[in-house]
Amino acid sequence: MTELAADLVPYDEAVARYEPVIGLETHVELGTATKMFCGCPTTFGAEPNSLVCPVCLGLPGSLPVANRTAIEYTIRIGLALNCSIASWCRFARKNYFYPDMPKDFQISQYDEPLCTDGWLDVTVDETVVRVGIERVHLEEDTGKSLHIGGATGRIHGADYSLVDYNRAGIPLVEVVTKPVPGTGSLAPVVARAYVTELRDLLRALGVSDVRMEEGSLRCDVNTSIAPRGSATWGTRTETKNVNSLRSVERAVRFEIERQAAVLDSGGRVVQETRHFHEDTGTTTAGRSKEEAQDYRYFPEPDLVPVAPPAEWVEQIRASLPELPAARGARLQREWGLSDLDMAALRNAGALDLVAETVAAGAAPEQARNLWLGELSRRANESGTDLVALPVTPAQVARVSELVASGALNAKLARQVLDGVLAGEGSPDEIVAARGLAVVSDDGALLAAIDQAIAANPEIAATIRSGKTAAAGVLIGAVMKATRGQADAGRARELILQRVNGS
Ligand SMILES: [Zn+2]
Repeated sequence: MTELAADLVPYDEAVARYEPVIGLETHVELGTATKMFCGCPTTFGAEPNSLVCPVCLGLPGSLPVANRTAIEYTIRIGLALNCSIASWCRFARKNYFYPDMPKDFQISQYDEPLCTDGWLDVTVDETVVRVGIERVHLEEDTGKSLHIGGATGRIHGADYSLVDYNRAGIPLVEVVTKPVPGTGSLAPVVARAYVTELRDLLRALGVSDVRMEEGSLRCDVNTSIAPRGSATWGTRTETKNVNSLRSVERAVRFEIERQAAVLDSGGRVVQETRHFHEDTGTTTAGRSKEEAQDYRYFPEPDLVPVAPPAEWVEQIRASLPELPAARGARLQREWGLSDLDMAALRNAGALDLVAETVAAGAAPEQARNLWLGELSRRANESGTDLVALPVTPAQVARVSELVASGALNAKLARQVLDGVLAGEGSPDEIVAARGLAVVSDDGALLAAIDQAIAANPEIAATIRSGKTAAAGVLIGAVMKATRGQADAGRARELILQRVNGS
């Protein structure tokens, strides 16, 4: 029965011999103003146990009433995920004894979810992977336990525990995928891409603030592996509450390496829940599914069934905004980008930044070049994400305008970006303060050009003989003399005129 203690198998070796299957269960806190079954507010960060009432505390005699907005939001999510919407379904009571749920049960959905059988496409390495959606159901969130003392922040080793019921009763949607086989070595990346795509979708739908760091989007990651060519899938583990996109990828990767080592050593993978540790990128065993409790689900007797009229569902469908996949396709068309260019934008996390920069007046090509070129390089150097750089799309758009108008050249634009990133002010303020402007005044340029010709008589002769490409050398000299501020186009014209004696 026991899992053999084992080391990890290096990732490439593990996926060369084993085929992973992943599955994701994502919990989304809905952004409704009030809780799922009572009128308590859902504000984040309020004084502990200040947002509670007899209903969400489950006091005797209180009765729940379902939140219509939460049901509408769930249908929005279901429709956006291409699901069928149940015309009739019920809430179920899930019984368990945990201190973070004051009622000793949670109202959830069990065998009658509101939305079933959909899909979400995710793009990885220019390949589209269709992730099947098993179900989308609605439930209420639990409270939050805080374990004080002990090293891990978990209940084991804690001196005492505190509980905050403010979150108990907040509408929570669970999106469960079907198992995703056939992704091979890309499994961790597909898992991350799926959660990213789902997060963007939920944000576009306006149903949740999807802040992983505040727990409004939480992910359980299922992973199994089986020897390549095997007719059956392996035993899966469920890594709970993985709370960042990066961690989703790391958790799958680690489980593949760990499970490969278990199987290599002749052991068998135990079906269990596991905890992910952000600091080490590892998982450790939690509760074993084989001794999992029986939740004794039964239809919730205090609530009427949910029966959304077909006309209402169609109204909701008609009100869906442009979804991220459609938006991406539209922008790609409008900007005239290849699939490869588009993938580069997405991978760099630059799609929204470029879209905002274009909306602020920049040409798409310029906006893309600045974000993927100069600014990506800065982000890499400082080890941050593009979006975290201290420069706004509006500022980038202004730099782009100054380049397009000829007021700045590429070199000067870089200096302006330096100034913006250093917090020296707006692009225009930096241009003024640093005296950055392209010199296109003929008088100033001619002085530098005459010097350059005098210093390079053989180049001038070459140009005169018809080889005008040699003008580049003189332009370089003029640039140097003007500390990069010369208008290169005008300098070239003047050089050709001057050399040919006109
Ligand atoms: Zn309440």
